[in-house]
Amino acid sequence: MPASDAALMSADTASAGTGGAERGTRSVGVLALQGDVAEHLRAVESAGGAGIPVRRLTELDSVDGLIIPGGESTAIWKLATVFGLVGPLRERIAAGMPVFGSCAGMIMLAARLVGRASDQETFGTIDMTVRRNAFGRQSESFESDIEIGGVAGGGAGPPFRAVFIRAPWVEQIGPGVEALATEPRTGRIVAVRQGPALATAFHPELTEDNRLHTIFIDMLRDT
Ligand code: GLN
Repeated sequence: MPASDAALMSADTASAGTGGAERGTRSVGVLALQGDVAEHLRAVESAGGAGIPVRRLTELDSVDGLIIPGGESTAIWKLATVFGLVGPLRERIAAGMPVFGSCAGMIMLAARLVGRASDQETFGTIDMTVRRNAFGRQSESFESDIEIGGVAGGGAGPPFRAVFIRAPWVEQIGPGVEALATEPRTGRIVAVRQGPALATAFHPELTEDNRLHTIFIDMLRDT
Protein backbone atom coordinates (compact mmCIF):
# COMPACT_ATOMS: atom_id res chain seq x y z
CA MET A 1 0.00 0.00 0.00
CA PRO A 2 1.43 3.39 -0.88
CA ALA A 3 2.19 5.55 2.12
CA SER A 4 -0.52 7.99 1.26
CA ASP A 5 -2.53 10.27 3.43
CA ALA A 6 -5.71 9.46 1.55
CA ALA A 7 -6.76 6.82 4.02
CA LEU A 8 -6.13 9.18 6.91
CA MET A 9 -8.52 11.70 5.50
CA SER A 10 -11.45 9.34 5.22
CA ALA A 11 -13.60 9.49 8.30
CA ASP A 12 -16.19 7.14 6.82
CA THR A 13 -17.26 4.94 9.65
CA ALA A 14 -20.63 4.01 8.23
CA SER A 15 -19.65 0.39 7.76
CA ALA A 16 -18.45 0.05 11.33
CA GLY A 17 -19.27 -3.18 13.03
CA THR A 18 -21.17 -2.97 16.25
CA GLY A 19 -21.46 -6.72 16.71
CA GLY A 20 -20.25 -8.07 20.01
CA ALA A 21 -22.82 -10.83 19.81
CA GLU A 22 -20.33 -13.63 20.26
CA ARG A 23 -19.77 -14.61 23.83
CA GLY A 24 -16.50 -13.18 25.11
CA THR A 25 -16.04 -10.87 22.15
CA ARG A 26 -14.28 -7.71 23.26
CA SER A 27 -15.71 -4.31 22.34
CA VAL A 28 -12.94 -2.20 20.95
CA GLY A 29 -13.74 1.47 20.57
CA VAL A 30 -12.05 3.56 17.92
CA LEU A 31 -12.02 7.28 18.67
CA ALA A 32 -13.95 8.44 15.61
CA LEU A 33 -13.25 12.16 15.39
CA GLN A 34 -10.66 12.32 12.61
CA GLY A 35 -8.16 10.02 10.93
CA ASP A 36 -8.13 6.41 9.79
CA VAL A 37 -11.07 5.23 11.84
CA ALA A 38 -12.60 2.84 9.29
CA GLU A 39 -9.24 1.09 8.83
CA HIS A 40 -8.90 0.42 12.56
CA LEU A 41 -12.49 -0.84 12.76
CA ARG A 42 -11.77 -3.28 9.92
CA ALA A 43 -8.54 -4.45 11.60
CA VAL A 44 -10.36 -4.96 14.93
CA GLU A 45 -13.03 -7.07 13.25
CA SER A 46 -10.44 -9.14 11.39
CA ALA A 47 -8.65 -9.77 14.71
CA GLY A 48 -11.88 -11.07 16.26
CA GLY A 49 -13.02 -8.00 18.20
CA ALA A 50 -16.18 -5.92 17.87
CA GLY A 51 -15.23 -2.49 16.55
CA ILE A 52 -17.26 0.45 17.83
CA PRO A 53 -16.80 4.05 16.66
CA VAL A 54 -16.61 6.35 19.68
CA ARG A 55 -17.81 9.94 19.43
CA ARG A 56 -20.11 10.15 22.42
CA LEU A 57 -19.85 9.45 26.11
CA THR A 58 -22.37 6.59 25.91
CA GLU A 59 -20.20 4.93 23.26
CA LEU A 60 -17.08 5.40 25.37
CA ASP A 61 -18.87 3.86 28.34
CA SER A 62 -19.77 0.79 26.28
CA VAL A 63 -16.27 -0.27 25.20
CA ASP A 64 -13.65 -2.47 26.89
CA GLY A 65 -10.73 -0.60 25.36
CA LEU A 66 -10.01 2.24 22.97
CA ILE A 67 -7.87 2.82 19.89
CA ILE A 68 -6.76 6.35 19.08
CA PRO A 69 -6.13 6.31 15.33
CA GLY A 70 -3.56 7.87 13.07
CA GLY A 71 -4.49 11.22 11.63
CA GLU A 72 -3.62 14.63 12.98
CA SER A 73 -3.11 14.80 16.73
CA THR A 74 -3.90 18.51 17.01
CA ALA A 75 -7.21 18.06 15.16
CA ILE A 76 -8.19 14.99 17.18
CA TRP A 77 -7.45 16.82 20.42
CA LYS A 78 -9.49 19.86 19.37
CA LEU A 79 -12.44 17.69 18.35
CA ALA A 80 -12.23 15.63 21.55
CA THR A 81 -12.44 18.92 23.45
CA VAL A 82 -15.46 20.08 21.41
CA PHE A 83 -17.20 16.71 21.89
CA GLY A 84 -16.62 16.88 25.65
CA LEU A 85 -14.55 13.72 25.60
CA VAL A 86 -11.20 14.85 27.02
CA GLY A 87 -12.21 14.63 30.69
CA PRO A 88 -14.04 11.28 30.36
CA LEU A 89 -11.16 9.86 28.33
CA ARG A 90 -8.66 10.93 30.99
CA GLU A 91 -10.83 9.26 33.64
CA ARG A 92 -11.24 5.97 31.75
CA ILE A 93 -7.52 5.80 30.94
CA ALA A 94 -6.60 6.60 34.56
CA ALA A 95 -8.97 3.81 35.66
CA GLY A 96 -6.95 1.34 33.60
CA MET A 97 -8.89 1.05 30.35
CA PRO A 98 -6.54 -0.44 27.74
CA VAL A 99 -5.60 2.06 25.02
CA PHE A 100 -3.75 1.67 21.76
CA GLY A 101 -2.51 4.70 19.86
CA SER A 102 -1.11 4.60 16.33
CA CYS A 103 0.93 7.55 15.04
CA ALA A 104 -1.20 10.59 16.04
CA GLY A 105 -2.59 8.29 18.74
CA MET A 106 0.93 7.60 20.01
CA ILE A 107 1.52 11.35 20.19
CA MET A 108 -1.66 11.79 22.22
CA LEU A 109 -0.57 9.16 24.75
CA ALA A 110 2.88 10.67 25.33
CA ALA A 111 3.88 12.20 28.64
CA ARG A 112 6.28 14.56 26.87
CA LEU A 113 6.21 15.97 23.35
CA VAL A 114 8.91 17.54 21.21
CA GLY A 115 7.58 19.69 18.38
CA ARG A 116 4.18 20.18 19.92
CA ALA A 117 1.80 22.77 18.56
CA SER A 118 1.41 25.77 20.85
CA ASP A 119 -1.96 24.75 22.28
CA GLN A 120 -1.45 21.01 21.99
CA GLU A 121 -2.05 18.76 24.99
CA THR A 122 -1.70 15.02 25.49
CA PHE A 123 -3.11 12.39 27.84
CA GLY A 124 0.36 11.69 29.26
CA THR A 125 -0.42 8.00 29.64
CA ILE A 126 2.93 6.53 28.62
CA ASP A 127 6.15 7.69 30.30
CA MET A 128 7.90 8.60 27.05
CA THR A 129 9.16 11.57 25.08
CA VAL A 130 7.78 11.58 21.53
CA ARG A 131 9.04 13.77 18.70
CA ARG A 132 6.32 14.73 16.23
CA ASN A 133 7.04 14.47 12.49
CA ALA A 134 10.44 13.03 13.41
CA PHE A 135 10.96 11.08 10.19
CA GLY A 136 10.31 14.15 8.03
CA ARG A 137 7.56 15.47 5.87
CA GLN A 138 4.69 13.75 4.11
CA SER A 139 6.88 13.18 1.03
CA GLU A 140 9.37 11.32 3.22
CA SER A 141 6.81 8.76 4.29
CA PHE A 142 8.05 5.19 3.91
CA GLU A 143 7.50 1.53 4.67
CA SER A 144 9.88 -0.72 6.57
CA ASP A 145 10.04 -4.34 7.72
CA ILE A 146 10.45 -4.39 11.48
CA GLU A 147 10.64 -7.00 14.22
CA ILE A 148 8.17 -6.48 17.03
CA GLY A 149 8.66 -8.01 20.46
CA GLY A 150 5.66 -10.06 21.50
CA VAL A 151 4.47 -10.43 17.90
CA ALA A 152 4.67 -13.99 16.62
CA GLY A 153 6.81 -15.14 19.52
CA GLY A 154 9.10 -12.16 19.79
CA GLY A 155 10.14 -11.85 16.19
CA ALA A 156 10.07 -15.54 15.32
CA GLY A 157 7.39 -14.95 12.69
CA PRO A 158 7.67 -12.84 9.57
CA PRO A 159 8.59 -9.20 10.14
CA PHE A 160 5.87 -6.59 10.33
CA ARG A 161 5.43 -4.30 7.33
CA ALA A 162 5.26 -0.91 9.01
CA VAL A 163 3.82 2.13 7.23
CA PHE A 164 5.25 5.46 8.45
CA ILE A 165 3.37 8.64 7.47
CA ARG A 166 4.69 11.89 8.93
CA ALA A 167 5.50 9.62 11.79
CA PRO A 168 6.80 10.42 15.24
CA TRP A 169 9.52 8.47 16.99
CA VAL A 170 10.14 7.84 20.67
CA GLU A 171 13.20 9.69 21.97
CA GLN A 172 13.22 8.47 25.53
CA ILE A 173 11.29 6.03 27.71
CA GLY A 174 10.90 5.75 31.46
CA PRO A 175 11.75 2.58 33.41
CA GLY A 176 8.19 1.21 33.29
CA VAL A 177 8.00 1.32 29.49
CA GLU A 178 8.86 -1.62 27.26
CA ALA A 179 10.34 -0.84 23.82
CA LEU A 180 8.73 -3.36 21.47
CA ALA A 181 10.34 -2.32 18.18
CA THR A 182 12.93 -0.06 16.62
CA GLU A 183 13.02 1.26 13.06
CA PRO A 184 16.09 -0.37 11.48
CA ARG A 185 17.49 2.61 9.52
CA THR A 186 17.47 5.07 12.44
CA GLY A 187 17.48 2.69 15.41
CA ARG A 188 14.66 4.76 16.92
CA ILE A 189 11.99 3.21 19.12
CA VAL A 190 8.69 3.00 17.22
CA ALA A 191 6.52 0.70 19.34
CA VAL A 192 6.08 0.69 23.12
CA ARG A 193 3.94 -0.74 25.85
CA GLN A 194 3.38 0.42 29.40
CA GLY A 195 0.88 -1.75 31.27
CA PRO A 196 -2.49 -1.46 29.51
CA ALA A 197 -1.22 1.17 27.03
CA LEU A 198 0.23 0.26 23.62
CA ALA A 199 1.51 2.70 20.99
CA THR A 200 3.08 2.53 17.55
CA ALA A 201 4.62 5.31 15.48
CA PHE A 202 3.45 3.49 12.34
CA HIS A 203 0.03 2.40 11.07
CA PRO A 204 -0.77 -1.31 11.56
CA GLU A 205 -4.33 -0.50 10.46
CA LEU A 206 -3.14 0.25 6.92
CA THR A 207 -1.89 -3.28 6.24
CA GLU A 208 -3.62 -6.65 6.28
CA ASP A 209 -1.37 -7.79 9.13
CA ASN A 210 -3.58 -7.72 12.23
CA ARG A 211 -1.04 -9.09 14.74
CA LEU A 212 -0.85 -5.86 16.74
CA HIS A 213 -4.63 -5.60 16.93
CA THR A 214 -4.65 -9.21 18.12
CA ILE A 215 -2.17 -8.31 20.86
CA PHE A 216 -4.39 -5.40 21.90
CA ILE A 217 -7.49 -7.58 22.03
CA ASP A 218 -5.53 -10.09 24.14
CA MET A 219 -4.66 -7.20 26.48
CA LEU A 220 -8.39 -6.53 26.87
CA ARG A 221 -8.95 -10.17 27.81
CA ASP A 222 -6.26 -9.85 30.50
CA THR A 223 -7.90 -6.87 32.16
N1 GLN B 1 2.19 14.14 12.28
C1 GLN B 1 0.86 13.81 12.70
C2 GLN B 1 0.53 14.48 14.03
O1 GLN B 1 1.29 15.20 14.56
C3 GLN B 1 0.68 12.32 12.83
C4 GLN B 1 0.69 11.68 11.48
C5 GLN B 1 -0.08 10.38 11.41
O2 GLN B 1 -0.86 10.03 12.28
N2 GLN B 1 0.13 9.72 10.31
O3 GLN B 1 -0.53 14.26 14.54
